[in-house]
Amino acid sequence: MSSVQIQCTRCKNVFRDRAGRLQDGYSRQCPSCEVVLFFAEDSQHPFIKRAMRNARKVRKEIREAEAVRLAAPELHPARRSRSFAGRTRSAERED
Ligand SMILES: [Zn+2]
Repeated sequence: MSSVQIQCTRCKNVFRDRAGRLQDGYSRQCPSCEVVLFFAEDSQHPFIKRAMRNARKVRKEIREAEAVRLAAPELHPARRSRSFAGRTRSAERED
C-alpha cells in the first residue's frame, strides 16, 4: 500500500519499506546482504533514485487522499442524495 520497492545496490535483492520513511537522509540495511543503503535526493544511483521517486509519488497520493478526506469528512460513499433530482445543468444555460 504505502510501501515502495527498493532494490539493493549491492546484491540486487528487492525489498520494501514505508514510503513515509524513504526521504532524503534516510538509511537502512538490506535484509539480504546487510549493506547500508543511503537515500539522498542527489543520489546518482539509479536504484536509489527510483526508490526515492516512487516514495515521493506514494507520499503525494497519501497526502491527496488525506486532503480529500479532511475537506469532506461527512462525505460517505454509500450516502445517496436526492437533492439534485430535477435540477439539471441545462437549466442554467442562458444566451
Ligand atoms: Zn543487499
